[in-house]
Amino acid sequence: MDKTAPHAIAKTEHFDVVIVGAGISGVGAAYHLTQQCPDKSFVVLEGLESFGGTWWMHRYPGIRSDSDLYTFGYRFKPWTGAPIAGRDEILKYMGEVIDENDLAKHIRYRHKIHTAQWSSKDNLWTLEGERTDTGEPLRFTANFLWMCQGYYRHAEGYTPHWKGMENFKGQIVHPQTWPEDLDYKDKTVIVIGSGATTATVVPAIAGDCKHVTVLQRSPTYFIPARNANELADQLRDLEIPEEWIHEITRRQILKNQDDFTRRALEEPEAVKQELLAGVRAYLGPDYDIETHFTPRYRPWRQRIAFVPEGDLFQGIASGKASMVTDEIECFTPKGILTKSGKELEADIIITATGFNLSVLGDIAFTVDGKPVDYAQTVTYRGMMFTGVPNMVWIFGYFRASWTLRVDIIADFVCRLLNHMTKTGKKKVEVALRPEDRDMKLLPWIDEENFNPGYLMRSMHLLPRRGEKHEWQHTQDYWREKTEIPLIDLTGAEFRYS
Ligand SMILES: Cc1cc2nc3c(=O)[nH]c(=O)nc-3n(C[C@H](O)[C@H](O)[C@H](O)COP(=O)(O)OP(=O)(O)OC[C@H]3O[C@@H](n4cnc5c(N)ncnc54)[C@H](O)[C@@H]3O)c2cc1C
Repeated sequence: MDKTAPHAIAKTEHFDVVIVGAGISGVGAAYHLTQQCPDKSFVVLEGLESFGGTWWMHRYPGIRSDSDLYTFGYRFKPWTGAPIAGRDEILKYMGEVIDENDLAKHIRYRHKIHTAQWSSKDNLWTLEGERTDTGEPLRFTANFLWMCQGYYRHAEGYTPHWKGMENFKGQIVHPQTWPEDLDYKDKTVIVIGSGATTATVVPAIAGDCKHVTVLQRSPTYFIPARNANELADQLRDLEIPEEWIHEITRRQILKNQDDFTRRALEEPEAVKQELLAGVRAYLGPDYDIETHFTPRYRPWRQRIAFVPEGDLFQGIASGKASMVTDEIECFTPKGILTKSGKELEADIIITATGFNLSVLGDIAFTVDGKPVDYAQTVTYRGMMFTGVPNMVWIFGYFRASWTLRVDIIADFVCRLLNHMTKTGKKKVEVALRPEDRDMKLLPWIDEENFNPGYLMRSMHLLPRRGEKHEWQHTQDYWREKTEIPLIDLTGAEFRYS
C-alpha cells in the first residue's frame, strides 16, 4: 500500500475514555475501568500487534523481570510462579488478565496515535493516528485520555555514537531490536554496559559463545539470590488459597524493600558492603571486586538488578564471561580499543546502553490549538500536568515494581471520573494554588536521589516538579499508597468546569 497517498478518515469513533498503550499499565487501566466505572465506554489503542508493551517488544535471550512478580503482578491477580519471571510467563499472565476479564473486545492493535488535540469548547480530546498495517487514518474522540504509553521509544534503543563504529567488520546489535536469527554460537561477543539487560543476556548466551566480555564504564550494584520466595512456598505447602499467598507475599516483599530503601539512605556504607559480599560469595576472595563491582554511587541511586541464582557471576567464575572496566576510545575493524590501550576483539558487539526516553508516546499534543511543551508544565504527583485537562499518565516506580503504581493511579482515575459524573463536570485541570505560587520549580527528578542515564539525557524534555510533594513524582510507594486514596477531589489544585 502506498503510505504517501492521502486517505480520507472514514469515521470518528467516540469513547468516554481512550487508553493509549496495552502494556502492563494499559491492561491494568482497562481492568480497573471495567470494575470501578462499568458505565464508561472505553477503548485501548495500541500501536503494536499484540499486548505486553515492554514484554512484547523485548526478545533478547534470557529476557526476564528484574523485580519480583508478586509486586510486578497486579494486586487483583495472584502470581503463582517463581518471583523472577521470563517474557513468556509475563505475557501469559497478562493474557489471562485479558481473557478472564473479557478485555480483548476493548483493545485495538496496530492503532498508532500521532496527535492529541484538546478542545475546551467541546471538552473533548481528538486523537488521530493510523493503522500500522494498512496505513488507514484513524480518528477518535474522548472525554478523558489515559496515557499508558510507557516511558521509552519502542522502535529503537539508545546507542551512543563511538568513533569508528562504521569500521567494525562484525555485527552491532541493540538488545531492544535483537535479530531473531542472530547466530552467536562459538562467537566472541562484547556486551557494552552493566545494567539489568547485561545481567540477563550474558548468562543466557555465555554457554553458547566462545567468550563474552562485559565492557563497562563503571560498575553497578546487583543482588544475587535464589529465585524463590520461602514464605510463598511454605504457604503453598499449607494449601493456603493463592489470593492470600499473593497478598501476604506482596506485603512481606514490600516491607523488606522499605527496610532496604531506608537502610540504603541511612547507612549506605553498611548496605554497600552487604551487596558487595553477595557478589564476593560467587566470585571468591581473589576476584577484583573493587574494580568491577564497586559502584561510585551509593546504593539505590540507580535500580538494583536482582540476579537469580547469581547466574551472571557463575558465568564469570566459570571463565565463559569476563569483565573489563574501562572506557571506549574507538571501535576498530576487529572490535574495540579502550582508553587504557587494550584492544578487545569481537564478532558481535551488543550495545546494552539503554533507552531513548519518549515523553508521552511522541504524540504531538495541543490544547485549544496551542502545542503543549511538557517541559513547561508542572506535574501533579507525576500523573497530571498543569494546562493539560482531562489527562492522566501512568509513570510507575523505579525502585519498587512499576505495577504497584498502576493499581494506585487506576483507583484515583476511576474515583475522579466518578466524581465528575456525579457533579456533572466535564473538564478537570490541575493548577498551582495561591500558596504554591512562590514554590521553586525543579527538574522532574532529583539527580541526587535517582539518576539513570535515560532520564538524565532527557530531563530537559520532562515536566517540572515543585518543592512540595503534591507537585512531584515522589517515587515513594509507601507515602502514595496511603495518600493518593485520600486525595480530596474538591481541593483547590483541581479546577473543574
Ligand atoms: C527489559 C526490561 C525489563 C524490565 N523489568 C522490569 C521489572 O522487573 N520491574 C519493573 O517494575 N519494571 C521493569 N521494567 C520497566 C518496564 O518498562 C515497566 O515496568 C512496564 O513494563 C512499563 O509498562 P507500561 O505499560 O507503562 O509501558 P510499556 O510496556 O512501554 O507499554 C507501552 C505501550 O504503549 C504503546 N504505545 C506507545 N506510544 C503509543 C502511541 N503513540 N500510539 C499507540 N500505542 C502506543 C507501546 O506500543 C506499548 O505497547 C523493565 C523494562 C525493560 C525494558
